[in-house]
Amino acid sequence: MDTQRIMIEGAMNMETSLLLKALADPQEHIVGQWRFVEGCYHSVHLVVAVTSIGMTNAAAATALGIEKFRPAAVISQGTAGGHDPALQAYDIVLGKRSFDASAYRTAQEEKADWRHLELMGAYAYDAAAQAFVPQAVYYPGDEKLLAAARTVGQEYTRGRVVDGCIASCNTWNRQKERLQYLHDQFGSSCEDMEVNSAAQICQQYGIPFLGIRILSNTEFRAEEFQPESAGVCQQFVLAVAEQYNRELAGN
Ligand code: SAH
Repeated sequence: MDTQRIMIEGAMNMETSLLLKALADPQEHIVGQWRFVEGCYHSVHLVVAVTSIGMTNAAAATALGIEKFRPAAVISQGTAGGHDPALQAYDIVLGKRSFDASAYRTAQEEKADWRHLELMGAYAYDAAAQAFVPQAVYYPGDEKLLAAARTVGQEYTRGRVVDGCIASCNTWNRQKERLQYLHDQFGSSCEDMEVNSAAQICQQYGIPFLGIRILSNTEFRAEEFQPESAGVCQQFVLAVAEQYNRELAGN
C-alpha cells in the first residue's frame, strides 16, 4: 500500500458520512475540537477531516490535520451554491482557483454602493520573505489533482464537471444581482464557506490542494439545497483520490 496520505475534508456530517463509511480499518483521532479518521479506501491511504462549517474551522482543521498527518495532498470537498447561471444542481466545479469573497476594500464614498469594491489578498506566510505578507487574490488548485479530477469527470453522469473558480466566505448569498455580479466581476462559478481558507493554509505549507464542489443549490434555477448532492460529491472525490494515487505511483 502507498503510505502517502491524502486528506479529504468535509464540513457537515452529510458531507463526510459516505467517506467515513468507505474507510477500511478506520482509526479516529480527535485533535483540538476536530475529528480526523484515518483508513484505507481500496489501496489509497486517506485521512477524512470533519472540519465543521466555515472559514475559521476549515483553516484550523487543515493546519492541525497537516501537522498531525503530513498528507501528500489535501482536497476540500462538499456542497456549494451557484454563481455561474449556466450551472445547475449536481454540476461539479473543480477549483482551478479560489478567492475569499469577504476580503475586499470598498470605494471611499458617502453613500454605499456594494458593487464598488476591490478584492484584496489575505496575509499568509511567505517562506522567501520569512514573514506574513499579502498574497495574490486567487489561490490556484494543484495541476496534478486537477488532472486526476478531470479524468474522473469524464465518467460523471449526474451533470457537468467544469474547471472553475470558487468564492469562499461565511456568507450565504441569495440575491441574484449580487451572485451575477460576483460571477461577472471576479469569475466565480460557485460559493462555499471553506475552500479558500483551506487553500491558504495548504499554500503556506506547500501542500498540493484542490477544492471540489458540487452545486447543491442555485438561485438561477430556483433550486433549494439538495442534501443528496453531498453524497454524490463524496463518491466523485473518492474516485479522484484513487486516480491521483495511481498517477503518483506512475501507473
Ligand atoms: N443547508 C444547511 C446549512 C448549510 S451551511 C442547513 O440549512 O442546515 C453552509 C454549508 O454548505 C457550508 O459548509 C458551505 O460550504 C456549503 N454551502 C452550500 N451552499 C452554499 C451557498 N449557497 N452559500 C454558501 N455556502 C454554501
